[in-house]
Amino acid sequence: PKVHRIIEDCRQEYNAHRKPVGNVGETYSNTLNYANHQANAALTKVVAMSPREVIAELTASGLRGRGGAGFPTGLKWQFGAAAKGDPKYMVCNADEGEPGTFKDRIILGKHADMVFEGMTIAAYVVGAREGIVYLRYEYSHLRPHLEAVLEARRRANLLGKDILGRPGFCFDVRIHMGAGAYVCGEETALIESLEGRRGEPRNRPPYPVERGFNNCPTIVNNVETLASACCILDRGAKWFASMGTERSKGFKLFSVSGDCTHPGVYELPWGITVDQLLETVGGKGAKAVQVGGYTGQLVPARQFDRKIAYEDLGIGGSIIIYGPDRDMLEVAENYLEFFIEESCGQCTPCRDGNVKLLEGIRLLKRGTCSNRYLNDLIGLSETIKLTSKCGLGQASPNVIVALNAHFKEEILARPIQGH
Ligand code: NAD
Ligand code: SF4
Repeated sequence: PKVHRIIEDCRQEYNAHRKPVGNVGETYSNTLNYANHQANAALTKVVAMSPREVIAELTASGLRGRGGAGFPTGLKWQFGAAAKGDPKYMVCNADEGEPGTFKDRIILGKHADMVFEGMTIAAYVVGAREGIVYLRYEYSHLRPHLEAVLEARRRANLLGKDILGRPGFCFDVRIHMGAGAYVCGEETALIESLEGRRGEPRNRPPYPVERGFNNCPTIVNNVETLASACCILDRGAKWFASMGTERSKGFKLFSVSGDCTHPGVYELPWGITVDQLLETVGGKGAKAVQVGGYTGQLVPARQFDRKIAYEDLGIGGSIIIYGPDRDMLEVAENYLEFFIEESCGQCTPCRDGNVKLLEGIRLLKRGTCSNRYLNDLIGLSETIKLTSKCGLGQASPNVIVALNAHFKEEILARPIQGH
């Protein structure tokens, strides 16, 4: 695709990685469909439709949640509309904390109006009167801009009472700052934090759409999901569904970082292969690519013909590229250090198990880990995945499982340190 480039300084994202990799100079941002969106065109159309019609359009588009999990957005809004309880809340999850992920920052910086437009549409559909943006602490610098956009929307009667002259359609948005905890990106930990408690994930069900903030129905959508909903409700479900693949409709923003010449944010259709993506960003020759951030999947070079889509690698749009000289054990060490630091500590397998995995990785690094002990670590990984309460613990062992599957020769063939 023709790339529309906006050069952005992305050192901030790289500073968020404790061991940055690759070219840290600039990011290429290609958010063409958002840039082309006509302000409030979707909202203007939506207020002339019934909530049921809006849900039908969104469902027909095939839009799936862009936070990573890919839950059908039309279905979530349908659940939200049907949920019993008053008041209802519309929450925008802007706690973009996954290492290697910075596409929401670009959207909030350049297309904040679309995010608020999307929230207002969701509120219309489900009947929410209050909206909350939970903004990542590290994105505090965006707050004045977001407040200014909100104020302008209030003045234009796009927020507040009787929005766009429609009697009874009342909705406003406030911004709530996160405090730097990665786990607060998990929706129920986010809600705990909103309620003034420690950000610790709850058991689900009940899902927030049924019982969320203050025990009321709460629709939690990612920043990109809300912006995409605006494009769809303006340009139509058919237009959106004509892009992508059978189970992965439309386009997606990819955050690309690591060992490549053009790290940045790219708007690309679902279904491209890892190889095609590497070609686009100048990452050919890589030995592995992490798809979906640290909680995603490590893909070795021999699998670069795999498709980034829910049919295959359906794990979000954060791409971290590891060049041929990367030490994969150092990569795994970095992941585990991150998860240990960010674990909320509720579940023993996540809190203590990841410490054991990190110890194992350090043994492997020193060349003093036997094949048998490595197998024990894989067994422990399965336990952690099965018994952890939230996505953090469930995904934290992925990297060691992937090293065992794809890089075993490399990790067991290390010379014993000091010999
Ligand atoms: P999930 O699949 O459990 O849920 C996804 C969404 O669907 C949630 O909003 C949930 O409430 C809703 N949902 C699921 N089943 C439902 C049902 N039966 N009824 C009503 N609603 C339902 O995933 P998750 O644990 O919320 O999120 C995990 C994902 O988060 C991972 O894929 C990971 O990639 C991603 N993640 C993203 C970031 C980031 O910075 N964007 C950070 C960490 C993790
Ligand atoms: Fe907390 Fe980890 Fe359990 Fe998630 S899996 S609730 S982060 S201890």
